[in-house]
Amino acid sequence: MPTRRSLLAASLAAGFAAFVATPAMAQTKLPVVATMSILGDFVKNVGGDRVEVATLVGPNGDAHVYTPTPADAKKVAAAKVVFVNGLGLEGWMTRLIKASGTKAPTVTATDGVKSRKMEEEGRQITDPHAWQDVSNAKIYVADIRDGLIAADPAGKSTYEANATAYLAKLDELQKEVKAAIGKIPADRRRIITTHDAFGYFGAAYGMEFISPEGVSTETEASAKDVAKIISQIKKQKIPAVFMENISDPRMMQQIAKESGAKIGGTLFSDALSDEKGPAPTYIDMMHNNIRQFSAALMS
Ligand code: ZN
Repeated sequence: MPTRRSLLAASLAAGFAAFVATPAMAQTKLPVVATMSILGDFVKNVGGDRVEVATLVGPNGDAHVYTPTPADAKKVAAAKVVFVNGLGLEGWMTRLIKASGTKAPTVTATDGVKSRKMEEEGRQITDPHAWQDVSNAKIYVADIRDGLIAADPAGKSTYEANATAYLAKLDELQKEVKAAIGKIPADRRRIITTHDAFGYFGAAYGMEFISPEGVSTETEASAKDVAKIISQIKKQKIPAVFMENISDPRMMQQIAKESGAKIGGTLFSDALSDEKGPAPTYIDMMHNNIRQFSAALMS
């Protein structure tokens, strides 16, 4: 028969074991901020249980044109690292960082990406949508890993292991995207989207994207832009127009109706869907988009 004292000692020991077996407890998680949902997904994959990610522009949100809230300033103030896309995507971020008073380092996840420039009304504009090329997503992941290690050196082995596992998934995704686009006949790989979000995708995988809006959603397409696209669709026999999760679908519906092009479904360009949607993660988003391209362009 165990004595009362030995039972107490045993239960204390069990309690202590349970305590030390839970290394990443809620209050010890590293609070970090990601400006938009795609970046937030990358940070979650690399940070795992050690980090608490607050995403500012949520599912289906437009990071080009965003008005930060006082709650966002609090999240930035509490963060130990702030992850941004850069390349001119989050024009509102500099002011928010300043207003929050944060001293946390800002990590630009596109550092090391070879950026694309596009000509818009005679000006050279940097295209911020680098994540649309999976090989760039791998650079984001490496930058995020290094940023987390710098802020939380005790987690180095965890961040390295998580990044390596996720990079292997991205290698797999890269093969899938190349294979899917490779099956679409070359002369069918030309489509219309609302804004120029797929330049990196087009350059990496061999597809042409034409848009009535530019690389930002800030300026709406004019009637002249829309008319130009409609005549281009007819002249070049462009097979399909696609809607985007962050943009009003009506302009694309009008273009499809007036040009006779097929509506090719909804692409996820600048943001993920919510949990119930078809693109709650970056990998799901890329799978969704290649599925939409194949469905519309192979038939
Ligand atoms: Zn965009």
